[in-house]
Amino acid sequence: MTPPTLDAFRAEVATFFDDVLPSALAGVTGGLPRARAWRAALFDHGLAGIDYPVAYGGRGLGSDHLRVYREVSSGRVPREDATFGIGVGMALPTIRDHGREELQLRFIRPGLRGDEIWCQMYSEPGAGSDLASLSTRAVLDGDEWVVTGQKVWTSGAQHSQFAILLARTDVDAPKHRGITMFILPMDSDGITVRPLVQMTGASEFNEVFIDEARIPRDWVVGELNGGWATAVALLAHERVQTGAASMSGSATQRSKAGRSPIPVGQLIELAQERGRMAEPLVRQELARLYSGEKIVSWLGSRPGIHPSIGKLWRTRQGRAAADLAARLAFPASPAWHPDASVTRNADEDYFGYHILNCRGMSLGGGTDEIQRNTLGERALGLPREPGPDRNTPFRELLKN
Ligand SMILES: Cc1cc2nc3c(=O)[nH]c(=O)nc-3n(C[C@H](O)[C@H](O)[C@H](O)COP(=O)(O)OP(=O)(O)OC[C@H]3O[C@@H](n4cnc5c(N)ncnc54)[C@H](O)[C@@H]3O)c2cc1C
Repeated sequence: MTPPTLDAFRAEVATFFDDVLPSALAGVTGGLPRARAWRAALFDHGLAGIDYPVAYGGRGLGSDHLRVYREVSSGRVPREDATFGIGVGMALPTIRDHGREELQLRFIRPGLRGDEIWCQMYSEPGAGSDLASLSTRAVLDGDEWVVTGQKVWTSGAQHSQFAILLARTDVDAPKHRGITMFILPMDSDGITVRPLVQMTGASEFNEVFIDEARIPRDWVVGELNGGWATAVALLAHERVQTGAASMSGSATQRSKAGRSPIPVGQLIELAQERGRMAEPLVRQELARLYSGEKIVSWLGSRPGIHPSIGKLWRTRQGRAAADLAARLAFPASPAWHPDASVTRNADEDYFGYHILNCRGMSLGGGTDEIQRNTLGERALGLPREPGPDRNTPFRELLKN
């Protein structure tokens, strides 16, 4: 089929956001139902996988059409889209680029439509920044892998049907060389998900205990024992996702969800409401934040840029925006009532949520320090961080 011209495509995307989406979301309440309704409407109108092959439910278009979509959708994507950040933003592109065709055909279409939600099982109590130290084991038993271990900080595990899982498959190899990436069905016997309560009061992430859960033998993404390379490829998608891409959330919707910085337009409204617009320091900070918002979005459309740069800018923007919100909404902004049913000013509640939530954004997807290490080594060519255990077999390493 002939691809639409860029002008025709621009009009198509505008019609979707002007007409189709408002009616698809009309009357739908609750975070998860709204997230699913948004994603299904996007898929059913051919906009969920613009650059994915048609065979996988995509549109088969290229980067120019993707750019047009990003321009037109900027500031209009419902914040509930964060539900699919791991699936659409990380797992599916990794399966598309590194998975076998059978996995691509099985998982990409329902993932793009939002019928299946994904989580990411990387971090463990003893393996965060030093991810290669993970100790969850997978052992082959006939036609299945048997997995045992513990994961932590697993965002969205309580809503997910599948996980991208890293597990150790060779304890005799050095730590980076004995890891494999799997697709884990979350309804397998032996999986226990325990939500953790964050300081915002929300429970977005979880502890996950895995006790002899079984995975089909072929549900391996990339090479057996070559999971470190696929893990790094997924992390690059994650840093793009939590960097520039996450700025594409709604500029107007006030939702206590998602990982985007507070939009500057909302801070301007807050300053106006509080009668603070004439203050030079407030104006200066708003101007700085406006520039930061533009820079983050420009970084997102610049090809070839190292993903850690966008990630670092986004977390910095998130903290600076939250700090200004805290000052403008003071003293109500840091106030908190342990009983969520107590009626409060919804706006102050919204800003209070983001003032607390933005701190975790400097950790998820790799901490700011790790992004700087990565940039130093990979972008600036500085010497590698010392790694005395890089060639020692995993079974001989001292464990926590
Ligand atoms: C909101 C949120 C969502 C998350 N979602 C997920 C998820 O869905 N799936 C998942 O697998 N994980 C998830 N994580 C976990 C996240 O990836 C880890 O928290 C992160 O990698 C840091 O690991 P850690 O918490 O063990 O801290 P540690 O690695 O123990 O780090 C502690 C401190 O030491 C610093 N540090 C450590 N090593 C170095 C070094 N070499 N050089 C300089 N400084 C260093 C760190 O920067 C940090 O300040 C999430 C975390 C957050 C906050």
